[in-house]
Amino acid sequence: MSNALQQPDLKNERRKPILGIRARLMILATIAILPLVLDRVRDLESDRVERIEAAYKQATELARRGTDEQNELIATTKSFLQVVANMYAMSARSGESCGRFLANAVEGLPWAKAISVVGRDGRILCSSNVEASGLDISDRPHFQRALTFGSFELSDYALGRRLQGPMIFACYGALSANGTVNHVFAAVLDLDWIGRLARATAERSGSFVLMLDGGGTVLTHYPGSGKWIGLQFDDHPLVRQILNRSEGTVTGVGIDDVRRIFAFVQLPGTSTRLAVGIDENEVLRRVNEAMRRSYSQLGIIAGIVLISIWFGGARLFVRPIHNLAWTAKRLGQGELKARATEKPWAVEFVPLAAALDDMADHLAAREHYLRATNDRLEELAQNDSLTGLANRRTFDSRLKMEWKRAETLALLMIDIDYFKRLNDHYGHVAGDACLRSLGKIFAAAVRKDDLAARYGGEEFTLLLPGASLNAATKVAQRIRVAVENLRIAHVESPAGYVTVSIGVASLHPQSGIDPQVLVETADAGLYKAKSCGRNTVTTNSSVKLAATG
Ligand code: GH3
Ligand code: MG
Ligand code: MG
Repeated sequence: MSNALQQPDLKNERRKPILGIRARLMILATIAILPLVLDRVRDLESDRVERIEAAYKQATELARRGTDEQNELIATTKSFLQVVANMYAMSARSGESCGRFLANAVEGLPWAKAISVVGRDGRILCSSNVEASGLDISDRPHFQRALTFGSFELSDYALGRRLQGPMIFACYGALSANGTVNHVFAAVLDLDWIGRLARATAERSGSFVLMLDGGGTVLTHYPGSGKWIGLQFDDHPLVRQILNRSEGTVTGVGIDDVRRIFAFVQLPGTSTRLAVGIDENEVLRRVNEAMRRSYSQLGIIAGIVLISIWFGGARLFVRPIHNLAWTAKRLGQGELKARATEKPWAVEFVPLAAALDDMADHLAAREHYLRATNDRLEELAQNDSLTGLANRRTFDSRLKMEWKRAETLALLMIDIDYFKRLNDHYGHVAGDACLRSLGKIFAAAVRKDDLAARYGGEEFTLLLPGASLNAATKVAQRIRVAVENLRIAHVESPAGYVTVSIGVASLHPQSGIDPQVLVETADAGLYKAKSCGRNTVTTNSSVKLAATG
């Protein structure tokens, strides 16, 4: 099985990234602010309801205020008719003309068009308006009620028979001392005056004011330049609703075809309704505008929160993580001096940064150890462990290299004489010690670019680039003498001490010729040295290659 198959495919194992930190923070923030937002939305919605209710309330207040003003007019009318009734009794006694008396009484009153005294039979006895004298109003319900109950009564809207235009009658049945009503005092109220009051209400509030009698006839309205006055709207849905109750609110399309929020109140003692309508669109526009403002503010705040989290998250979380990842990447690329804790970290990141630095320390230590081990292995691979000289492998590769490079290459092949006997006699430990001692001599004999190697067993080589046969022979002689001078005891050797035999060769390397020729040449020289009695330096003169002189 190949290595690639055994190794898990890390790239394929990397899962697709799921939601990022910032997205998660945004979700958290959204979850956190959602209740607040919903609460605010609920507030705003109840605010909307409150504002609409406030509009109803405002309309009701306006209607009540308008009613108060109309009531005041009615109360004034009632008081006035009572005063007129009292004064009528006295003026009758004083013999003053009834018509003049009434004309004097009504003079200067802005709200009354005419005052009349009506007999029990319903005929107008006298009036401030002389044309009204003799008219029969006995069929009028308000007259009948005033006569029957001695009360103050208001008519519905009516078109005057003599007086031009729409009008309302007020009747007061004056009780005599015996409790019967002898005369009814009637006043014709000026609808313009009533209209002015309604107009004042409308102008103050910017609303639509509508005054209806019990039959659904418009008594007055504002604005609209009085065009609906006197028209009956009893089949109008909104008017019907207003007439159904004495007081209340209703939203609907008014007689001017505008949808409004209406509040209406019945004028006490009458069937008249005063209705004040506020434009629903205007109310909703104001409410919606306020809502829009509030929702925009809410949106802006939520937006600011989320944007802050997005950018703050980048600064507070994403950037530190990128920094840590960058440090880890540098470590991975072999920059073992990179350290994460040099930067200030948020407390949660400190353990991670410290762990990275620990890892960097361990990696650095491991790398140091590996380098040392490698160096050692390399040394072991290149050197002979016993003598410390280069080993055979190093020699072979160096020979090849120098063969290509050097113009002249000399080789000394050195063999210890009778070494087997030394081992046999003194033991292998002594033999090893001898090998080490001689190794030192060989190492000391070479210059910077030369190489001393243990060729194998008790054989050594010295590779001398650039050395002629002559120069190499001199080196060989020096070595032979140096070994001799060591005087390592060897009783089994004729000399009595350890000696070496050396074969020397020096050639001009030629391409196409195996460098082993040099080894063989030197070896042949060594063979000769052995034959010549050992402890000798010999060259092999029979070599045909261009030998050096
Ligand atoms: P000659 O003079 O002809 O070279 O005879 P010699 O005995 O030196 O040669 P021979 O080849 O017969 O013996 C070499 C001996 O070297 C045999 C072996 O025991 C010894 N030898 C080889 N390597 C080592 C070593 O690493 N340590 C020790 N102590 N002896 C070794
Ligand atoms: Mg040998
Ligand atoms: Mg030997």
